[in-house]
Amino acid sequence: MVSERLLEILACPLGKAPVKLEGEYLVCTKCGAKYPIKDDIPVMLIDELVLPDGVKSVEELACYPKETT
Ligand SMILES: [Zn+2]
Repeated sequence: MVSERLLEILACPLGKAPVKLEGEYLVCTKCGAKYPIKDDIPVMLIDELVLPDGVKSVEELACYPKETT
């Protein structure tokens, strides 16, 4: 089980937005990206995230940093 205290510390690695616990995942409250919890350890890695419905790539996420060239 992921503790409330840990939840407060964790954030979406893309946009630093807060996450909430949803079943087996931590879900970003901003972009909806889902991060799996493996053996009670949240895996806050972009390589491991599950995209929300309707989003085809990480670049489409609201949290994805917009590059300015
Ligand atoms: Zn996010």
